[in-house]
Amino acid sequence: MHQLTLAEIARGLADKKFSSEELTKALLARITQLDPQLNSFISLTEDLALQQAKAADARRANGESGALLGAPIAHKDLFCTQGIRTSCGSKMLDNFKAPYDATVVAKLAAAGAVTLGKTNMDEFAMGSANESSYYGPVKNPWNLEHVPGGSSGGSAAAVAARLLPAATGTDTGGSIRQPAALTNLTGLKPTYGRVSRWGMIAYASSLDQGGPLARTAEDCAILLQGMAGFDPQDSTSIDEPVPDYSAGLNGSLQGLRIGVPKEYFSAGLDPRIADLVMASVEELKKLGAVVKEISLPNMQHAIPAYYVIAPAEASSNLSRFDGVRFGYRCEDPKNLEDLYKRSRGEGFGPEVQRRIMVGAYALSAGYYDAYYLKAQRIRRLIKNDFMAAFNEVDIILGPTTPNPAWKLGAKNSDPVAAYLEDVYTITANLAGLPGLSMPAGFVDGLPVGVQLLAPYFQEGRLLNVAHQYQQNTDWHTRTPTGF
Ligand code: GLN
Repeated sequence: MHQLTLAEIARGLADKKFSSEELTKALLARITQLDPQLNSFISLTEDLALQQAKAADARRANGESGALLGAPIAHKDLFCTQGIRTSCGSKMLDNFKAPYDATVVAKLAAAGAVTLGKTNMDEFAMGSANESSYYGPVKNPWNLEHVPGGSSGGSAAAVAARLLPAATGTDTGGSIRQPAALTNLTGLKPTYGRVSRWGMIAYASSLDQGGPLARTAEDCAILLQGMAGFDPQDSTSIDEPVPDYSAGLNGSLQGLRIGVPKEYFSAGLDPRIADLVMASVEELKKLGAVVKEISLPNMQHAIPAYYVIAPAEASSNLSRFDGVRFGYRCEDPKNLEDLYKRSRGEGFGPEVQRRIMVGAYALSAGYYDAYYLKAQRIRRLIKNDFMAAFNEVDIILGPTTPNPAWKLGAKNSDPVAAYLEDVYTITANLAGLPGLSMPAGFVDGLPVGVQLLAPYFQEGRLLNVAHQYQQNTDWHTRTPTGF
């Protein structure tokens, strides 16, 4: 049963082949048995899951239907879940039980999804390897000595290991697409404003966006359908109608114009990944697509701009964790200043502290113009590059990551080496564009992802292209040994 996709589960439930309760029990048992190897969950929510599963079965018995009704999922542990620990991967929030559900959590629950638990993640979503979590690193099911990517590494490892069919993630600079690539999943970062951020603990508010991680584009369509839509509680949510993503999966790719940026093929890219990227282009050509070389001339400035803007926003967002209102408080504070200093010093891990310091520095009066303002200008140039490119092509295709999953610990002593891994993903966040990563082959037994980018609100186009690709390739069906 654990091999079933969301789409297959929906059919099985509709045909009464099994109940949601049976499925939920089977997957919870599988998680208990296998997750100790992976560490992909921070909390299991067995009682809630069984209650939701029974309720979904009752709704089906009453004639209701729906692709998510009775479907087991998990949430990255930065989506607030009422009465359930919402840790954000941090000691700071180890004891925090959210007083309300995030909009995404509430919407998926209303659609009948069953929450099996909360998944492990980099602390406050800062990282690309899932090694900065207070709850320990997550292992990649394709090779337990390698990282699964981050920051949604728990969601990715759990879905890749068939512990459940799909999970939510968030993507500030690649945290859905990069772990999807490194674990052989399909992951989609929607247009900024497409999915509500209400109740999603903020890292960098102008970049953060929630989205689905699943094995297929078809399943991403189902999960995104349940997540997307206008939310008056989020002032950056956009009031645009949500199309029927599943209905759009079968559109023809005849005449689809694919742009491949020449800047993507620079020295930092593993040549074996470059070959797999070009092989995916050939596959799409067979389906009727036409290919054109394009240029994104300001791409080289993306990493420095992102690593000013994201920490700047983080330093501001994380100032609320002061030992007074939320989460961890140090023992026996001598006075207010001591309370702040030690609560934050003890509650945040080293990567989070590094980001807060970089961000506070970039925002300080003397340096604001030199760093933050300049980074915002680069952001506009990057957006303009994309706008020009999308005048000529319908989607942009390239690698999701320059390298396959690295060994645990390999980049721990050099944060900048890890930041460089984000080179292909962060531009979509800076510009607010939707992006998808899909499985496209293997290097040394480790999965490789291809990234597709589309104009604003064209998530449907990304899902359509990925689904057509997956109808004609079998990379996404490969299962890691032992799972
Ligand atoms: N790796 C990037 C960072 O550390 C992106 C993380 C994310 O998307 N949450 O900031």
